[in-house]
Amino acid sequence: MELFNLKDKSEQVNFATAVKRGIGSNQGLFFPDEIKPLDNIDNLLEMPLVERSQVILRHLIGDEVPELESIIADAFTFKAPLVKADDRIYALELFHGPTLAFKDFGARFMARVLSAVRGNKHLTILTATSGDTGAAVADAFFKQSGIDVVVLYPKGKISELQEKLIATLGGNIRAVQINGTFDECQDLVKKAFDDADFKEKVGLNSANSINISRLLAQVCYYFEAASQLSKAERDKLVFSVPCGNFGNITAGLIAKALGLKCRFVISCNANDTVPRYLKSGKWDPHATIPTLSNAMDISRPNNWPRVEALCRMEHWDLDAFGYGSLNDDETMAAMRELHNKTGYVLEPHAAIAWKVLSSHLKEDEVGIFLGTAHPAKFKADVDKVLSIDVALPEALERRKNLDSKSVTLDPDYTKLKDYILKELNI
Ligand SMILES: *Cc1c(COP(=O)(O)O)cnc(C)c1O
Repeated sequence: MELFNLKDKSEQVNFATAVKRGIGSNQGLFFPDEIKPLDNIDNLLEMPLVERSQVILRHLIGDEVPELESIIADAFTFKAPLVKADDRIYALELFHGPTLAFKDFGARFMARVLSAVRGNKHLTILTATSGDTGAAVADAFFKQSGIDVVVLYPKGKISELQEKLIATLGGNIRAVQINGTFDECQDLVKKAFDDADFKEKVGLNSANSINISRLLAQVCYYFEAASQLSKAERDKLVFSVPCGNFGNITAGLIAKALGLKCRFVISCNANDTVPRYLKSGKWDPHATIPTLSNAMDISRPNNWPRVEALCRMEHWDLDAFGYGSLNDDETMAAMRELHNKTGYVLEPHAAIAWKVLSSHLKEDEVGIFLGTAHPAKFKADVDKVLSIDVALPEALERRKNLDSKSVTLDPDYTKLKDYILKELNI
């Protein structure tokens, strides 16, 4: 697979290098300049998830990574069921993995690919999280040999469940709570990446959503969704994606470029830079606003250049996107509306995707919205808005009773660096 830096065409890398580097020079994103369509999609849609994903990813990645097939079998061990939620509308439930969010797909694939391509080099993943990403990354890299993970999170500012998912693993996963804000955690990560000496010493990598391996893994579940529909339903398919950094929808667009017949609806919360851009043609990010759908609280989505690059490459008009945004009151109203109508329980991210979809769906279309997180992950809000008591899946109920093994540090780069070097015996 050939990938190019979107900011500097002369930087061309293969898949393994793009996975190891994460981002190119001048903060440019790696992306292919051509996506060859798949042959015989109807046949593919008859295959089971793992087998089909092996065909799709081998087609995209080419002959690199000889262990790709076993990596996929080992990473995709949970289902992505399509569940009827409303008239002509299904939920693609992507939250049946170990940390209850769709990020498990990308993080688990990335962890195994990185393990396969790292050679003899020891790697350290350093990531700052306000919740979902850190949990998915910690879980995905747990026990991957030759890779250590340090997850930073703001003390007292993530949910108890999220903290348990990050801090009860132990082994090669270190949880560090910072006496400060999420921004201070991110600053510490930035300082570490700017410290060339440290970066080289520990083999620093960020495992963030910019990494091309995470996106490619996510392509697979768009096909999985279509496979669960009847042939007649597949013909008029619309996906509604709750967007934050626009990684998930980029994966969907790659599926379309591969030949999956569908159109897309971009669903945002009050952080609506892209919907306003599509309406006015003006890129005008506002300050980020905290909302109930906090994984989408992003006003400068870092995968947007990939969406534009892909649209240029495939000659798709940006006008072809459906789009819409909901504020928190509208989000809560949407949660209540569907619950009253069909009994389906939406957490805030999915609620936005369902509502924007239902207002865009044409008579003859079938809609699928992406259920990106389990309602139990947002239990406090879901229980309050719907007056119900959402149950946590059993495996996590057990995890919740384990003790957290985190250390606490001040937001001081020198202290963090000393801690990491000492932990890794460097
Ligand atoms: C990360 C996340 C999103 C946003 O996905 P992007 O790929 O960043 O657009 C939406 N919902 C949930 C629950 C998430 O964790």
